[in-house]
Formats: sequence, structure tokens, C-alpha cells
Amino acid sequence: MNILVINCGSSSLKYQLIDTDSKSVLAKGLCERIGIEGSKLTHEAAGKDEFVVENPMPDHQVAVDMVMKALLDPKYGVLKDISEISAVGHRVLHGSKYYSDPVIVNEDVKKVIRDCYDLGPLHNPANLTGIIACEAAMPGIPHVAVFDTAFHQTMPEKAFLYAIPYEYYEKYNIRRYGFHGTSHSYVAKRTLEISGLDPNNSKIIVAHLGNGASITAVQNGKCVDTSMGLTPLEGLIMGTRSGDIDAGVLQYIAHKENKDIDELLNLLNKKSGMLGVSGVSSDFRDVKKAEEEGNHRAKVANEAFVYRVAKYIGAYVAAMNGVDAIAFTAGVGENDGIVRGQVCEYLGYLGIKIDEEVNKVRGKEALITTPDSKVKVYVVPTNEELSIAQQTLALIRK
Ligand code: AMP
Repeated sequence: MNILVINCGSSSLKYQLIDTDSKSVLAKGLCERIGIEGSKLTHEAAGKDEFVVENPMPDHQVAVDMVMKALLDPKYGVLKDISEISAVGHRVLHGSKYYSDPVIVNEDVKKVIRDCYDLGPLHNPANLTGIIACEAAMPGIPHVAVFDTAFHQTMPEKAFLYAIPYEYYEKYNIRRYGFHGTSHSYVAKRTLEISGLDPNNSKIIVAHLGNGASITAVQNGKCVDTSMGLTPLEGLIMGTRSGDIDAGVLQYIAHKENKDIDELLNLLNKKSGMLGVSGVSSDFRDVKKAEEEGNHRAKVANEAFVYRVAKYIGAYVAAMNGVDAIAFTAGVGENDGIVRGQVCEYLGYLGIKIDEEVNKVRGKEALITTPDSKVKVYVVPTNEELSIAQQTLALIRK
């Protein structure tokens, strides 16, 4: 079956048309600068030339219509008729406490996505706009919302509550939700498959280390804790996000520099993390290069990133009273053997022994520990689009 996977940002739309039988990508592409001057669609289909269209895209509806045209194009497309698409799977950032599984979109689902605008102000409005545009372009087929927060809904109260007055949880649902759920769920399942662990008696830690980064503790296939919180700001040091921070820092900077709370949040989300510490870039490759050239701040940024990852893994070993397997995924986790090796050096007390040769692997599934290692450590490439397509298919087949 062909499932179209849509991931809408405020000014972008990414798509993949996936054949779920062969798990292959038939076509994929990106609409950039929607609503801004210089809009562009880049479309790639297996075995065909890249197709680029530079046309104004004032809104997501126009972008979706252009995607449809590209998919149906006699030269660059892969479909003869829209009816060859069985369903559309939409990535949605925030489902609050309401969804722990994918859902077929109806008016109630749209209301929840809208009600969560405050929780995902950058993503949820764009996600809903994309859904409405796709419904108009592809009426009569199921549209499924797959939430980034869903996998983490199994966290117990002790893990998801903030230690602030309980009334804020009751009144406003302020609690930890966690993100990257589709990736964590996909990688945890895949780790279970390749490790041969008993799904009902397993302790896995998934480290999703990319530009955004989070770690999840998965016990018996279910998330029991994760490092991101109410928003994707909490937890690890990321490309531009600070991760964990003493809230007192905000008050201190606010008073010193006369900044309001929105400016401070912008600082923590967009100007901090690897970028803020190194002063070089948010991209790990650039920071690594700067460190190699002797840049002290870049070196500290890399060290602090690795240190925080190791601390979270240690915390989750405690949370589960043990760990059977650790999986590294996303841009850094899949490609950077040095970071993986440095993180695992902190974890020597667990009896982890890295096979340095195998740990050079990039972007491929691999067991990177030696046979006598007490905990197995894997590289498991994430595939959020395939996971969304598979979850969409599973739901429409029910
Ligand atoms: P993601 O958000 O998962 O796309 O990951 C993006 C991050 O992965 C960027 O900071 C990249 O620098 C990093 N990355 C991608 N490839 C490599 C690589 N070969 N070595 C180190 N970091 C990489």
C-alpha cells in the first residue's frame, strides 16, 4: 500500500510516499519558504531526475497542490492517479495527555491539536494547517495523526510531574510529555528485534542524538522516562537548545539585561546549546572541526554534550534498576563513533566494552560492543517516516 507521510513546519512541508509492502520510498521532497518570498519545491523519485519548481507558495494549500502535481507528473512523478494513495500519515508534535496512539483525524482530533497550540506554538498550528490542506487535496481517504508525544504517555506520574504546585498540573496539564516519540518507539522496537531480548523482560535506553536530542528509558517495550519535558527544551544539550537549566538563571539574565520571558525562551531555544557554548555553530561537525583546530569553547561544548548524555544514561539505569541494551540513533548517534565511544567510556562501570573497529560504523545498524560486554550497545538508524507510514497502515487496517 502507498502511504503519503507529511511533516509540516511553519514555513516548510516534507513528504515521503512510502510503499509499505516493500518498505521503500517511492518519492520524497521538500517545500521550503512557504508564505515567504523564494518558495521552492524539490522532488525526488526513485530512478528519476530531481525535479525543482520555484513558484510562489503563499500557503500550505498551494504547497500540497504542488506536491500532488509532482507525484502525478508524467516525467518526474510516480503515480497515475491520486487514488493510488491509500492514506496520509501526518506527524503532529503535541497531543498533550489525550493521545497515546495514532488516530484517524476527525473534527474532535483537530480540536485537540488546536487546543495544544500553547504547548507546541511553532509546530501544532503548522501541523493542523497541513492536515486541512491535505484533506482538501485528498478527500475520501483516511488522514492519520501520529503524535511525537504519544509513545511517552506510559510514563508514570513520578516521572512526568514537575515539583511545582500540583494545581498547575490540574488546571493546565503542566507536566513532562517528551518528544521524538516516533523515533524512540521505532528504535526501541528494532533494538528488541535485533537483540533477541524478551520484549516483556527488557530494559533499553534509546539515545536520539541529533540537532534535537533526547534519551528514553524503555522497560518491557514501554517508555518509563524521557529527557524532554513540557516542551522540547528540557534534557540534553542540543544544537541550539540549552537543555536542563536552573530557572534562576532566567531571572538573573532578565534583570541584568532587561529581557522579557519570550526573549529569554528564544535565547534558550535558539542561541544556546552547542551554538551558545562553542560560539561556532549548532552543527556538531563544525564544532568538532573547531575543536580539532584548537578552539577551547568548541572542546568544552563537545565535552559537556557527551557528559550530559552519559549522566542521563546513568540516571535511566537507576530508574530501571539495570539496562540490557543501549541504542544510539539520529545524526550524531548514527554517524559519530567518537561521541559514542566517549559516552560509553563513562559507562565502563556497567561492564560495557566497545569494539573500536565496529564503532567506526556510520548510518548502519550494528552491534558495537564486544561479545563479553555486559550490556549490548547498538547503532540503530531511525526512520520516522517509515514508522509513521507503518503506524498509519496498522490503524486503517484495524
Ligand atoms: P539530525 O537532527 O538527526 O538530522 O542530526 C543533525 C546533526 O547530526 C548535525 O548536528 C550534524 O552535524 C550531525 N551529523 C550528521 N552527520 C554526522 C557525522 N558524520 N559526524 C558527526 N555528526 C554528524
